[in-house]
Amino acid sequence: MLLDIEKIGHEQHAHWIIFTGDRIVANKQQAKLIEANWQQLAMIHQYQDQIISLGEYEGKPCYAVDVGTEQLALDDYETMSLRGVFMSHNESLFSIVARAWQWVLFRRTHRYCGQCGSTMQQVGWEMATQCHSCRHRCYPRVSPCIIVAIKKHDKILLAQGKAQKERKMFSTLAGFVESGESLEQAVHREVFEEVGVKIKNLEYFGSQPWPFPHSLMMGFLADHDSGEINVDGDEIIEAHWFDVDELPFVPPNMSIAGKLIEATLERIANRS
Ligand SMILES: [Zn+2]
Repeated sequence: MLLDIEKIGHEQHAHWIIFTGDRIVANKQQAKLIEANWQQLAMIHQYQDQIISLGEYEGKPCYAVDVGTEQLALDDYETMSLRGVFMSHNESLFSIVARAWQWVLFRRTHRYCGQCGSTMQQVGWEMATQCHSCRHRCYPRVSPCIIVAIKKHDKILLAQGKAQKERKMFSTLAGFVESGESLEQAVHREVFEEVGVKIKNLEYFGSQPWPFPHSLMMGFLADHDSGEINVDGDEIIEAHWFDVDELPFVPPNMSIAGKLIEATLERIANRS
């Protein structure tokens, strides 16, 4: 929740996640949050009414501060992208930074009421904003997405989207859930739209918040039912059934895509 520094105290040692633009200020010893008390953070003193409490991280309080597009003078620090934090393979760090980013992004994009145009105010007891004029209330945006790994006998379907072409990466299929649609309907629709095949034996696997910028990935495992691969050429440019021992470059298993691929390979291995 939004706090001011008087409530936190000037001396208290805490972790600080400072956002400048879409980057995070970090210690120069890579992938480590700033650990300091308020007095040591002169560069953000003018933002003392912008502090968001995130609970605890590694046994200390953790706060986020958004300086917007301000360029900070950073002698002892550097900045990292959100993806850089993800690539650091530190799951608990990524988790707290991801949450902080979604709250910061929410505050930046909900300054005015969508219903009457008045200024929105922060609600004191939960992460929400409320219109002082018409009482319209908003919460941080979460966009549900399905993601699915599909197997056919001893092969796995992996596809390359436009965004993955440069990295030469193949991954599982994913897409946004549409309004009024169940997760299961979204999985069947997305798979058919993107690669033209029907699937069966849909099984829920798990979920992962994905802050690029505000998705919640809900993972499924499935089997091929019928149809040949026929990519839509729009979102997906290439897709194939891959042998387990001839896999292309795939996402790391810190992402749910990587975990789904791993789980599918295990399922294939356990067949024999
Ligand atoms: Zn309003």
